[in-house]
Amino acid sequence: MKLRTKMWIFVIFSYVISLVVFLILIKTISNVANNGYSLHIMNNIAHSALESAQEQQVFSKHGIESALTPFSKEHPKIRFEWIASDGTAIYDSSGIMKHYQFKELADRFLDMRYTLSTEGNQISLAYAAEQNGETYYLLLGLPTNALKPGQMYFYVRTFSVFFIFALPILVALLIPYILSSWYFYSINRRIRKLNMALNQVNIQTNVMELKDNSKDEIGHLTRHYNDMTRRIRTQVNQIEQLENNRKLLLSNLSHDLRTPLTMMLGYAELIRTGQYKDEKDLQTSAKIILQRSRYMAKLLDQILDVSRQETDKLEIHFSSYNLSELIRKIASDYLFVIDEQELLFEVALPEMEVFAFIDASLIERMLHNLLDNAIRYGKDGHFLQIELIEEEQTVCIVVKDKGVGIAPAEQERIFDRFYRVDRGRKGEGLGIGLSIVKGIVEAHQGNIQLTSIPYEETTFLIKLPKN
Ligand code: ADP
Repeated sequence: MKLRTKMWIFVIFSYVISLVVFLILIKTISNVANNGYSLHIMNNIAHSALESAQEQQVFSKHGIESALTPFSKEHPKIRFEWIASDGTAIYDSSGIMKHYQFKELADRFLDMRYTLSTEGNQISLAYAAEQNGETYYLLLGLPTNALKPGQMYFYVRTFSVFFIFALPILVALLIPYILSSWYFYSINRRIRKLNMALNQVNIQTNVMELKDNSKDEIGHLTRHYNDMTRRIRTQVNQIEQLENNRKLLLSNLSHDLRTPLTMMLGYAELIRTGQYKDEKDLQTSAKIILQRSRYMAKLLDQILDVSRQETDKLEIHFSSYNLSELIRKIASDYLFVIDEQELLFEVALPEMEVFAFIDASLIERMLHNLLDNAIRYGKDGHFLQIELIEEEQTVCIVVKDKGVGIAPAEQERIFDRFYRVDRGRKGEGLGIGLSIVKGIVEAHQGNIQLTSIPYEETTFLIKLPKN
């Protein structure tokens, strides 16, 4: 839910709540605080008293006493007076039995509205009743403080009654304020958290992830932040790995170049100073120099390939090429090397020449890498095979040896750049040969699979589309 929608719901909700609370409070407070007599109640009491007096036909002193006493007992705050037409009091619940002159009676009513607000004053109500042609008056007197505060307002216009409203109004006004403060506090808290987390984003330290499942804008922002931290973490890991690889490459490279170079310098010096025994010794020295220079050239080629792959500058020139011919040529290159290694070297080609749309120089480089590895790491198996299989849409090249093989745990990473099974050993390569192989296969839209059972069979199967 969006924050704006949330806010509107919140506003409506807080208004409803405050209205309900206001009504409940008003009802409760008025029940408690607005008690007492109202004009309406007084009227009812007076009429009941008059009815009871008339019913009993008791307009004499004793009779009226028995008619009005129950009322005065029920309403002790009200003073009941029963006055004859000449002003004589027949009954007075207060016992004063005041004799009224007409002026006195008139003043009591006329002055009532001026004196009501003063302490101890009372409101007076008068009712007339007739019997046998005689008029009698029922006077009800009530102290002002026994009136309902709401009624007081109508008699004396006192605003004290509005204090009853003060609390409900205050509470009703406070509720939206408290709720909105809480709402903004919760939003603020989430923003603060996000802010703090953003402030701590640092490549060196572990970035912290935040939990916020709400669907509003802050929730979205938090999720974006979490995605960002995850991306930063993976990128930092990648950078660290690259840095490690770079260090490893430099140390391996310096070692791999220095060892053959030292040998080459030694043999070149031997030739220059003429310290060789015979012609055969000279030839051997020259051969070693040649081998080592080729190895160094190969290393430099590999590094060049890697940097080309990295900058996407691996140039590919596809052409329809006779793969059988290419493999025959490569196999003949290796015959010389194989001779020295006591390896059984098998080349299996289909009878028909196999053509494919490839970049021959890249495929040649790929096969060199695979065959070099098979000889270098699989020589203990004394077996090397290169096989070409033609299928309908694809051509398969299989390079097989029966050497030490590659453990299943290593197989997944074997094509990673700079990954070597035995990282401690130096002088055998930089761990980039297979990554170049994979790059070349992928550039041809093909795929490469490795299966390996130590000392039984280690196979690299490359499938390339014919076209
Ligand atoms: P490098 O040969 O320079 O170490 P590669 O990428 O060519 O790098 O090979 C990576 C690793 O794979 C090698 O270090 C080696 O341990 C292992 N490997 C490659 N080919 C074979 C194979 N035919 N038999 C056993 N191990 C192999």
